[in-house]
This record gives sequence, structure tokens and C-alpha cells, in this order.
Amino acid sequence: MADIMIHRGSSQIGGCCTQISTGESRILIDFGANLPGTDQNAGIKDSEMFQKVFGSAGKSAVLFTHYHGDHFGLFKEIPDDVPMYIGPMAKDILRIFVPYMDSGTGRKGLPVVERMRTYGAGKWITPVSGIKVLPLYVDHSALDSYMFYIRVSGKSLLYYWRFSGAWHRGPEGTLRAGTQDICARAGGYPDYRGYHAQPFGRSKESAC
Ligand SMILES: [Zn+2]
Repeated sequence: MADIMIHRGSSQIGGCCTQISTGESRILIDFGANLPGTDQNAGIKDSEMFQKVFGSAGKSAVLFTHYHGDHFGLFKEIPDDVPMYIGPMAKDILRIFVPYMDSGTGRKGLPVVERMRTYGAGKWITPVSGIKVLPLYVDHSALDSYMFYIRVSGKSLLYYWRFSGAWHRGPEGTLRAGTQDICARAGGYPDYRGYHAQPFGRSKESAC
């Protein structure tokens, strides 16, 4: 039995964290900070996210879609025994700008970045037992950004978070092919208003 839980992001842009689990193991997609200036009035503050997501954690892995702060900004909170994955160029970029961002702060993020593993476009990985993930490139203002095609508990799920005009026609064709049971998406534009988990095409969401 597959289960999708949106820890944060169903009614906002940024601060993203979505969980996909088998009941025994799970992946988390992104662990983002609230957009600058919004944390005070957010339904879930950044300081509350660790307890909400990792307070009763089972076996986990975290996959980052890209290196923008609203998708990866809480990375220092992730426990040491939780594997993290990100694109190879995105990791190199983090190696440069995380030390810069950390200047003057006591808690350094570079050791956490070095702990991140990398995935490759079009190459399947199995971050936790029972969940297979195929990273696919996404056009975005951050280099080396990805969406994920996921196989879990006999179901297929396309997790996407960017739906720009230039990008729209290609993935739409993929979606129409009906090879996935569920689509979960995060909006980057106001009209999408954050995450949605929705059936698409030959949906079998009730079985998930
Ligand atoms: Zn972004």
C-alpha cells in the first residue's frame, strides 16, 4: 500500500516537503524553508518541521529536486542517518554557496552537503527498500533541477513541481500516455497555489 502525505505546501508556495511511503519505508521529496518573510505567519513554521517530519521517523531518505532554499533550506535539520540525494551539479553548487551563506553562523552546512549522494537523469535509484525513483530533468531557474517518476507498491507516480509554458507540452504528452497512476505536483506560479496530489489519465488513486 502506497501513501502520499504532503507535510507542508498544500496551501502555499515554497516550504516544500512531500512524503511517499510503503508503510515500512518512505522517501521525502524536498525539505524546504518557508519563503523569506513568510515564516512568522505560516501555518507550520520552519522550527516545527523537524518534529513533524522526523519525530516518529521510520526508514527514510530525502530527495531534493533542486537547490533553491524553499526546497532544500532545512537540510541541516535532517538526521545524520538519513540518506540525502541531489543532482551532481546541484551538489557542486551547494559546495560553493553554502559556506558563503554560513559565514558568521555557528552551524556549518558543508559537512551535510558532503554527505549528500547524487542521482543522475534517467538512472533509476532505490533510496529505500520498495521505492524506485527515476530522476528526470526539469526546466527551472536553478541548474540541475528534477522531477521524479516513482514506482511504489505496484503503482507509478509522477512527482512534478514545475509546469512552465516551455515545459508544458513535453510532459503533457507523457502524462497522456497514462503510464502513471498518480501525479503529485508543486506549483511555481500563483495559479497553482502550492502542491496538489491529483489523479491523471487512468487514475487508480483510490488503490494507493
Ligand atoms: Zn526553485
